[in-house]
Order: sequence, then structure tokens, then C-alpha cells
Amino acid sequence: MKKTFTLLTLMLIAMFGFAQSFVMINTDNQQETEDLFNNSNLKIHYYTDNFVLATAKTVDESMKVLDSQAFSDNDVYTLVYCPQTEQQNYLGDGEALLQTSNFVLVKGAAMPYKNDGAVAIFNKEAKLPVATRDFPVVTAENPIIRGMMDQVNMDSLEATVQHLQDYQSRMWNSDNAFAASDWIAGRMAALGLEVEQQPFYASTWTGGGEAAPNVIGIQRGTLYPDVYVVCGSHFDSFSYEAMYGSGNCPGADDNATGVASVLESARIMTQYEFEYSIVYCAYGCEEMGLYGSEAYASRCQQEGMEIIGYFNNDMNGYLYGDAIHIDCIYPNSVAQIGDYYMNVANIYFPEMQVRHVTLSGGDSDHTSFNQHGYKGIYPFEDVDHYSPYIHTPNDMIGQSVNSFEMGQRYCQMNIGCLTEIATVVDHTNVSEIDDINDEVVRYEVYDLMGRPVYSEKSVSTNIDKISVNNLKSGVYMIRFVMKNGNVVTRKFVKE
Ligand SMILES: [Zn+2]
Repeated sequence: MKKTFTLLTLMLIAMFGFAQSFVMINTDNQQETEDLFNNSNLKIHYYTDNFVLATAKTVDESMKVLDSQAFSDNDVYTLVYCPQTEQQNYLGDGEALLQTSNFVLVKGAAMPYKNDGAVAIFNKEAKLPVATRDFPVVTAENPIIRGMMDQVNMDSLEATVQHLQDYQSRMWNSDNAFAASDWIAGRMAALGLEVEQQPFYASTWTGGGEAAPNVIGIQRGTLYPDVYVVCGSHFDSFSYEAMYGSGNCPGADDNATGVASVLESARIMTQYEFEYSIVYCAYGCEEMGLYGSEAYASRCQQEGMEIIGYFNNDMNGYLYGDAIHIDCIYPNSVAQIGDYYMNVANIYFPEMQVRHVTLSGGDSDHTSFNQHGYKGIYPFEDVDHYSPYIHTPNDMIGQSVNSFEMGQRYCQMNIGCLTEIATVVDHTNVSEIDDINDEVVRYEVYDLMGRPVYSEKSVSTNIDKISVNNLKSGVYMIRFVMKNGNVVTRKFVKE
């Protein structure tokens, strides 16, 4: 009898004794958020400017317990941004753990609100963004970058939006979404990018399964191949009509326009070389809870990838009013990328209104990066007047995408932000040294007074061109050290 009792007690302890609670803790400022990340009692899964969601070993009065057994029989919790009066309709098969005026937190997978998305919270540890290098300070236009911006072509943007719209529906696990993923991968491969289709699973309220894979295209940097700037967009679309078989979800504004911006940026930028690597992403399954970008960003964190900044492209075709303007969404933890975006806008489009805003409802793929140690920003349509047709069969070119000029501007800003960081390699007037391609292990650049101005110590492959864009105009000497120990010195002019 006693033995049975002991065994039962042990079993109960095994089942419940070490259960940890899923809790919410409100925060007033960035310092409080950082303190919580440093608290060993907590495993933080998700943060915003106002609260964190975490698993707590022990609970105190600062915490609101949402679920006394965190992730016990569910692999996700879902945040659905939705007015309180309508929240009951969006619970999917889940249970509402917390309802506020603008969101409901659901245990399990839930339905995206009619004109917004959802955010799935996984049993993974979040990481606050860390600065590995500073964003550049842009003081004047770079004529090469202006030249790239001038190539952004509205017909080219429209052709991509039209193609994606013509799938009729790109629901996260539909055949058409897989076809769209393949088509995007083909476009990227044709531009010479290193292309990968990243498979992943999503546990949505319609049932779990394999989602149409992310498409990741890399343009390798010449000097820093392992340091990245990233842009991305989601290619899936959603509507209740498509869900229940009574209509389509063409997803022209949300988000064929974002994919068009990423592909147009790649079309232009692949004609140039950059010092840093650039990644062009198209994600699956954003609408059900940012599943695709979460799969990619968490893998980047795991692999320790160094990403300087992430630029999101999600909806850029619905112009409200006459003047093109941009609303920038980002949390306080990544203020530097916000300042940087404003800086680039100020230099290249000084007349354009750009605001830092907070989106009371909805979210997008920059959030996945911000949860995994990176700095991501979301330049969005007018937060008060974005396309009212998204997530309906009417999200089509015409009413919902009413301005390709606006798409052109968002794409130009995407290019400007990426390239000011990635640093275009300027080949002007170094033709005299193009024949140096034989086993160079390092090189040094000197001015005519013999003062060293630049050196590259770990040239990993043969080179036929070098970067001189950090140099002022003038005459320089360059000294190449070869693998066999020979040294070759040449003179060149930087215009
Ligand atoms: Zn979207």
C-alpha cells in the first residue's frame, strides 16, 4: 500500500511537480525588458515594447499566469490582433487565455483576424537584438546607388504582381503556394543567386502540415561573404472565402507587391558587386502566424549568422491620398535601424513623409528577426489607411493595388537601405590591376606618401578585382603578396 502510494506520488511529481507556468509580464521601458531577459527564472519566448511572454520556473506577483503548464499539450500559443468584440470568432480550436482591447492570446493555433495576421509563439528562447556593427551614416547621395534606384521599373513590378495574382489563391499549404515558391526560386536562380528552398512545418488551426517552402537567395559579398544584410517578403495569401471554398485570395497587395519589390531589387542589385552578402527572402505561411520567417530567422540565430539589418516588404501598392509616404514599424529595441531608415529616406527622398508608428493590430515578418537577435524594420502603407481589400477576393490590381509608383518608391528605399550597408564595389579605373589574379594572399594600399590606407589580410580566393570605394579620389600604390611569396606593386587612380 505504502509502496503504491510512493509510486503514485512520484508519478504525480513527474507529471506536475516541475510544471512551469506560461506567464505575461508587463514592461514600461527597454531596460525592464533587458532585465527580464537576464533573469534566470525566465525563458522568454516573445517580447514587445509593452510585455514579454515567458515560461517561469517560479511565479511572483509581477506575473500574470496564462497557463499553469506551459506548452504541455500545445506546440504554439497564438496572438491574434483583433478588437475585443470580435475575438470570440477567431479562436480556431484554441482557448482564449487573455483578452485585451486589441488582441487575444490563444492556447494552440488560431485564425488570423480578417484584415490582419497572427503571431505564433513557439517554445523557443527569444534573443534581444545585438549590435554587431553600426549602421552607416549617410551624408550624401551615392551616384551608383541613385543609378540603381532609377532602374526600378513599374512594368517589371506589375508583371510580378500580375503573375502571383493569377494563381488565384496562395494559401499556405495549397498546390498553388508550392508552385509560387518554385516560380520565385526559378526567378532568383536566373539572376545567379545561390538559391535554397527551406522546407518547414506549420501547426495551424486548420491542421498541421508541410507549408510551401521559403525561398532564400544569396548574393555573396566580395570582402565579407559571411556578414549579411537581408530583405524579405511573404508570398502566401489568405481569405476566409478561399478557406471555405466560396472565393479566391489573389493577394495582390498582400503580398505580391512585397515579393515584386524583393525580386526587382535582386534584378537590379545582381548587376553589381557588394562587399557584404545580401539575402533575398520569400516566406511561406506568414498569414497563419509568421511560420516561414520564424523558421528562417531562428535557423539564422542557431547558426550564428551575422546579420546587420533586416528590411521587410509587406504591402506597398495601396496609396491613400496624393503623396507617397511610408509608415515605419519597429520596436524600441531596434531604434538604430529606424534612425538609419529615416537617414536614407532623408538623403534620397527629402520631400517624402516617413513616420515611426506603432501598429496596434497585426504584425509581419520583421518580428521574427527582432525575436532572434536581429534588427528588423517594417516600412508599411499608411497604418490608418492601408488597403481595405486584403484577405478578400478583391485584393487585386486596380482597387487594392492602385499605385505602382508607390511600389517603385518602396523598392527604391529597399535598395537604398540594403546597398548603403552592403557597400557597392566600385571598379572605376582599376583596370590596370585586373591582371593580378594569381594566388594573392593579401594586399595593402598606400598613398603616394607611402602611408598605408587599406589592407586586406585574408584573401580567401583568387581575385581579379579589388574594392576601392572607401578611398578618396587620388593616386595610390597597391602591393600584392602572392602565395609563393612574390610581391607585385602597381599604381592606380581612384577617380
Ligand atoms: Zn502580408
